[in-house]
Amino acid sequence: MSERFYITTAIDYVNQKPHLGTAYEKIGADCMARYKRLAGFDVRFLMGNDEHSTNVEREAIARGLDPLEYCRAMSEEFRAAWKALDISYDDFIHTTEERHVRSVRELFERIHRNGYIYKGKYEGFYCESCEEFIVEKDLVDGLCPRHKLAPKIIREENWFFALSRFQEPLLRHFGEHPDFVRPQIRRNEVMNVITGGLEDVSISRAGKTWGIPLPIDASHVIYVWFDALTNYISALGFGGGDPALFDRYWPADVHVIGKDITRFHCIIWPAMLMAGGVEPPRSVFAHGFISLGGEKMSKTRGNVVDPVRMAGAFGSDALRYLLLREVPFDRDGDISDEVFLGRYNADLANDVGNLLSRTVAMVSKYLGGSVDAGPPGDGGWFGGELASALESYRAHMDRMEFSRALGAYWAVIQRANRFIEERRPWDIAKDPARRGELEETFRELLAALRTTGVVLAPFMPGKMRELLGALGAERLTLADLPEAAVGASGLAPRSPLFPRIKPEDAGRIAG
Ligand SMILES: [Zn+2]
Repeated sequence: MSERFYITTAIDYVNQKPHLGTAYEKIGADCMARYKRLAGFDVRFLMGNDEHSTNVEREAIARGLDPLEYCRAMSEEFRAAWKALDISYDDFIHTTEERHVRSVRELFERIHRNGYIYKGKYEGFYCESCEEFIVEKDLVDGLCPRHKLAPKIIREENWFFALSRFQEPLLRHFGEHPDFVRPQIRRNEVMNVITGGLEDVSISRAGKTWGIPLPIDASHVIYVWFDALTNYISALGFGGGDPALFDRYWPADVHVIGKDITRFHCIIWPAMLMAGGVEPPRSVFAHGFISLGGEKMSKTRGNVVDPVRMAGAFGSDALRYLLLREVPFDRDGDISDEVFLGRYNADLANDVGNLLSRTVAMVSKYLGGSVDAGPPGDGGWFGGELASALESYRAHMDRMEFSRALGAYWAVIQRANRFIEERRPWDIAKDPARRGELEETFRELLAALRTTGVVLAPFMPGKMRELLGALGAERLTLADLPEAAVGASGLAPRSPLFPRIKPEDAGRIAG
């Protein structure tokens, strides 16, 4: 049986539509899921919506809707966005679903039975936008540093999770799994928090009705983060449902999240699992944030980008490529119309698009659309450049270094375009005695193009399907690469894969 790979993204609050930052995370995770599928893995890719938030309840009430009704409507919006961006999740969970509620209760009860949940008094601050308890030293001028809003002061009897007892187990886990948190900079931050000492955390809210009631105290609901984190196992049928599914995919290979929620995913979540006697995930990858023309995207600045509109402007494939090429996944990065336009025309219209159109046009004109397969061992392939670029691509992809993987592979595409200029097939074609040389030239180019179609497919699934289709190589996967020198038949001139975008059509990002 093939090796399995379970990848998840953060689930999103549904009180606002998905924005470009949210989309960036899903696109990165989707790229990884597609890459692993192409490499032959048994992949499970989970996404979902976080619905038991006070923000969601408040937004629903403000619109005069029942919260559940509102969540259903928003779910349509999210799914439509993910469809427009060609996100290939295998399962999509809503935290109001019965299968989720059952798992949350089960995990809570196990942790309680194991003696890690107790009743205490919470007195402190709570930011309702973060849905997070905040300690005083983290306030800036008395405000939540993220939302610049005054936190609520809460005094209530609460149920607590004994997080403090997991300092040692967590440190041991980090020691035994050096790649548990990536990139390294996030790992260091999290390690500093753990070594600095952990305090118990409140895991219930009193007097609320929107949420999952505590199995041991119906006057409280389970704190939204405890509820939300459990989605990664509830979607696998933890505590009921389908034990085979859980056994097959848990522990997750990677939780893909934003760098602002590492405390929940790298400290509280593994501790919750340990407390419940469940194995922690294998790794957490914290991506960076996108800014726009040097400015942070935010509602108040009014520069929040709608990814669906942007996909309409550049095409969903191009948008996916441009984001993952321009913003290294483990870091913050900036985008702008100028940069996107330049890269689109240079990388996609020129490098990839021209290589395809020129090659098929010449094969059609000089060889009637067919190239014979080469003799065995005829693997010139730019002197092994293709094989080594592939190796480098794979190494970077396995570490979710998408931009570097693309950078490493791009040498092949550029080399192939130079190869056309050097060989001058239009001159070779004039001499019938050089037919063998002509065919060999196109075999090289076809090899580069076919490989390109597979390598770029996780980034641009639709366009690469088109490219491979034009070469009659739809079924090619990473496992087939590098291949022996292949031929092709029935090649015909085609319209550009990536039509050029004129500068006057810029201004597409901000709308
Ligand atoms: Zn806040």
